[in-house]
Amino acid sequence: MDTYDVIIIGSGAGGGTLARHLAPSGKKILVLERGDWLPREQANWSAHDVFVDNRYVSEDTWYDAEGKAFQPQVHYFVGGATKLYGAALYRLRKEDFGELRHHDGISPAWPIAYEELEPYYTLAEQNYEVHGARGEDPTEPPASSPYPFPAVSHEPRIQQLADDLAAAGYHPFHAPCGIRLNETDAPHSTCIRCQTCDGFPCLVHAKSDAEVFGVRPALEHSNVTLLRNAKATRLETSASGATVTQVVVERGDAEERYAADVVVVACGAANTARLLLASANDKHPSGLANGSDQVGRNYMFHDSVAVLALSREENPTTFQKTLGLNDFYFGSDDFDYPLGNIQMVGKSQAEMFRGERPGETRLAPEWTLERVARHAIDFWLSTEDLPKPENRVTVEPDGNVKLSYTESNTTAKKKLYEQLRSLLGKLDMNHGHLIHRWAYMQNSIPIAGCAHQAGTCRFGTDSATSVLDTDCKAHELDNLYVVDTSVFPSIGAVNPALTAMANSLRVGDHLLERMA
Ligand SMILES: Cc1cc2nc3c(=O)[nH]c(=O)nc-3n(C[C@H](O)[C@H](O)[C@H](O)COP(=O)(O)OP(=O)(O)OC[C@H]3O[C@@H](n4cnc5c(N)ncnc54)[C@H](O)[C@@H]3O)c2cc1C
Ligand code: SF4
Repeated sequence: MDTYDVIIIGSGAGGGTLARHLAPSGKKILVLERGDWLPREQANWSAHDVFVDNRYVSEDTWYDAEGKAFQPQVHYFVGGATKLYGAALYRLRKEDFGELRHHDGISPAWPIAYEELEPYYTLAEQNYEVHGARGEDPTEPPASSPYPFPAVSHEPRIQQLADDLAAAGYHPFHAPCGIRLNETDAPHSTCIRCQTCDGFPCLVHAKSDAEVFGVRPALEHSNVTLLRNAKATRLETSASGATVTQVVVERGDAEERYAADVVVVACGAANTARLLLASANDKHPSGLANGSDQVGRNYMFHDSVAVLALSREENPTTFQKTLGLNDFYFGSDDFDYPLGNIQMVGKSQAEMFRGERPGETRLAPEWTLERVARHAIDFWLSTEDLPKPENRVTVEPDGNVKLSYTESNTTAKKKLYEQLRSLLGKLDMNHGHLIHRWAYMQNSIPIAGCAHQAGTCRFGTDSATSVLDTDCKAHELDNLYVVDTSVFPSIGAVNPALTAMANSLRVGDHLLERMA
């Protein structure tokens, strides 16, 4: 059996970032990834292939609380979900690390303060070449460095929106973007600023994803091995149950086993819980690291709404995800609780609506889908989803994930939507024509849109209420770590990937110290 210093299971935001960070140490590292390289093909940029045919969505079947099957929007590739992500790379707000009172209850504090993660946010922004502008967003947490790259400029229609918002007293800001765009030297820019970015893979590898900026740089080191199409199915422990001794892997038709001094799980929130739960043994009868019965619980994925606003003039924007608005992040004049974040989402195309059941839009007949797409300005609203123990991942007898989930904070979500309506009204955009889009939720069951899944193995100081300690090591095992979004005790209302990356770097430093 091959033995390593570290095995990392999963190569997405958490795992890919960690692999790159550990690689220069010379330690023998194995990355196990159940998916393959995402093929580079024209279909990468075809709205029909991506949004109608779901070409890059896994074929998994999961079940909801009532046992109804659905196809989750998960992506099994080297680089994980970041291959398809919108690369909006936000830091959580400083306040998100403390306890926050929401309309529906408490968003719990993290066991570490923002200041502890700050240097790693800075490093993650450098590793992933984030473009942004500090000082525009009033809710932005303090940062020790400027963004490594200048903000991606707004195209004229979005600049007009930014100007109108500012004139109306709001504080629009340039959204932090992970696209490798060089606007001062277009002929040499890796990114070509196209319309098929958010939700699409990048054909030219110009998106700052975990394959491009995690796995590939890691593989430049000969001590790092990547095994693709290698699905970890079980972790086995020593007789005492204190140490993970083997990772059991399904590869093609074969079962293989690997061992390491340290095993790090980074399969994404649902699959990390699945792997730990499926690894139950005599010493861990309800699943690995699950003496507290917390593994799989507290699942969160944001209360999100994709909305398009039809304005009278056309919106010829190509790359639209350049603007954010956090004026309602912590509340509004008539609501004392946090509402959330408003940002732009990738520019809609008529073809996308076909994958999204546009029949639900109540439009006059002259509004063809093509015309809707031409006039649409597309927004993405995120309200914090609170961690609730009954929102949980369990494993069905057939090995599939069961996701029991009930929404929280729906009042705040509605209020945020009303704020958007009201501000667009003030901007004289046609607020009678706000249309819900199911951009990331192509399935009829909203829980299938699990792009922002988090929280199933939270870290904390109390082993009775958390799965992991503050180093993200399992309380109950000596050598088992988790570094993906599962560790989040709360999710905030901004996109989660940069926080997973930063935390992975923090845990990486701990591992380097441990292995020194
Ligand atoms: C369409 C879309 C748009 C998004 N846009 C944004 C955005 O703009 N900004 C943002 O911050 N976030 C965005 N996200 C979310 C972001 O991509 C995730 O939060 C982030 O990738 C989570 O990182 P992770 O490491 O937890 O999981 P992942 O990145 O999903 O990585 C998990 C990896 O583990 C592998 N794996 C799973 N099970 C096993 C197993 N048993 N054995 C081996 N390997 C396994 C998977 O194949 C995958 O590669 C988006 C997501 C999607 C889908
Ligand atoms: S906008 Fe840039 S990063 Fe995004 S898909 Fe197009 S070329 Fe790739």
